[in-house]
Amino acid sequence: MLLENHSCEHLWGDMQEQLLGNACQLHPGADGCVMGGGGKDLDLWVMGTPCPPFSEQTNGRFRPGAVESHPLYHVTFSYAAEAFKMGYKAYVFEQVPGFDKPYSSIDKETPFSRLLGDE
Ligand SMILES: [Zn+2]
Repeated sequence: MLLENHSCEHLWGDMQEQLLGNACQLHPGADGCVMGGGGKDLDLWVMGTPCPPFSEQTNGRFRPGAVESHPLYHVTFSYAAEAFKMGYKAYVFEQVPGFDKPYSSIDKETPFSRLLGDE
């Protein structure tokens, strides 16, 4: 749908592939693909990360340690955090409402505040 309606310079299957500069789906034989200026000349990065670590629908979501021990937690706090350092002018980041809820029943910090570096 994306390619039928828009032109793209590069299109990666996931954030890790893009951050590593690997060949994208449009240039599978290339040594690698890099967006213009490595990101500094670009305006917008639209991304989402896996919701299950943060979703209030996940069993035990507010149990101490449950969010950080979820096997998909690292995707947000490694790949998305790295993407935010690339210098794009703006980002659209999609997550579930539970992303802005405390880590657990004994915490005040939320994943959202941690990602922003707020305390
Ligand atoms: Zn490419």
